[in-house]
Amino acid sequence: MGQGLSCRGKDEHWLFTAVQSGDLETVRSVLERDPDLIRQTTVNDRHSALHIAAANGRIEIVSMLLDDRLVNADSLNRHKQTPLMLAAMHGKISCVQKLIEAGANILVFDSMNGRTCLHYAAFYGHSDCLQTILSAARTSHIAVSWGFSRFVNIRDGKGATPLHLAARQQHPDCVHILLDNGALVCASTGGYSFPGSTPLHLAARGGSIDCIRELLAWGADRLQQDSSGRIPYTVALKHKNEACAALLNPSSPEPLVWPSPLKFISELHQDAKALLEQALMEANREWEKTLLKSIKQSLPSPSHSDSVDDNISQVSEMEVCCICFDQECTIEVQDCGHQMCAQCTLALCCHNKSRPSPPPVCPFCRSKIERLVAVEVKADSQDLNNPKAWKSRMANNCIEESCSFKGLSAVPSFGKGRSHGSIRISVDTECIDKT
Ligand SMILES: [Zn+2]
Ligand SMILES: [Zn+2]
Repeated sequence: MGQGLSCRGKDEHWLFTAVQSGDLETVRSVLERDPDLIRQTTVNDRHSALHIAAANGRIEIVSMLLDDRLVNADSLNRHKQTPLMLAAMHGKISCVQKLIEAGANILVFDSMNGRTCLHYAAFYGHSDCLQTILSAARTSHIAVSWGFSRFVNIRDGKGATPLHLAARQQHPDCVHILLDNGALVCASTGGYSFPGSTPLHLAARGGSIDCIRELLAWGADRLQQDSSGRIPYTVALKHKNEACAALLNPSSPEPLVWPSPLKFISELHQDAKALLEQALMEANREWEKTLLKSIKQSLPSPSHSDSVDDNISQVSEMEVCCICFDQECTIEVQDCGHQMCAQCTLALCCHNKSRPSPPPVCPFCRSKIERLVAVEVKADSQDLNNPKAWKSRMANNCIEESCSFKGLSAVPSFGKGRSHGSIRISVDTECIDKT
């Protein structure tokens, strides 16, 4: 290739090779000799030096080009892709961060599929890049001019949102982040995949049980049809995704759904939210286990009894929840200060779609729940003035009181068998994957 090149052509070739391999010194010296070279692009795709550096994660070169203001952060290649899109596509998080810092526009659409950098991050499953772009959107002018939630649910040329793409490509982490940021769980695509598909249809098609679990926990509707009248269950069956079909079968019981409409949940402190999310997923894992049992012939023999015993002895040292007498108190209701476990908190707040419930109140004193926070672990738990120690004593005396929480038992999957559930299910799904 080098033979027919003019002197300039050779330099150009060296420049792109040096950028690709991250050779900062050569890039500098070639550009010193001929500063105009920076405006050159590759022959076929018309990539700029910044595109190549970003796609290959060459952060030093990206920084040099941007800091010295040698290039436009939003230069476009033949397909109208920005360097930010390529960095998001290849999961080059430091380049994504640097480009955004340098003012790269997150709201550019490529000419191939009409996709933004958010679509790229979701499609290729780079959750760190996805999170960075979403954080940038929250604080940028886009949140004001466009609206943050409109950006999260932005559609490509065929009507696919980033959530559709993440679900189709089997990226549960991205699905989770998008839902957590307000992605619409029941949005239908226009022409992408089968017209009218929801994220649940696409997850059923892709066969990702993890994505299906996330979508259902966020309230995805198992009965929503695509344009040809198919529900996600039918799609899973057609693609022989048996395990997915078991969870999507509309005649099976519904999982617990994250209570997103409740205002105080969206204002949850991060640590309380993490505890509740974990409890929800654990409860649904039990639900899942029951459903998956029916499609399996043989259960693996339980080989993890040791770790179960460990968990039980750990729990016995903690403050026990006065509602279930099973789990430790990890969540505190404010302002009253009463405490309970994450599972019982969820049982109060969660709803099955079939029976929506009124805003929850504290089960001990019936006062309005202003906030839910994670219980702080205090070293001096023997102190009787300490509310936690008081709770511990109360645990021995509140059996009668717990009778008034009978309603909780109507909520499926809570209480029993919490510690071994997560261990066994990982074995279960392994077996299913192999079949
Ligand atoms: Zn409890
Ligand atoms: Zn209370």
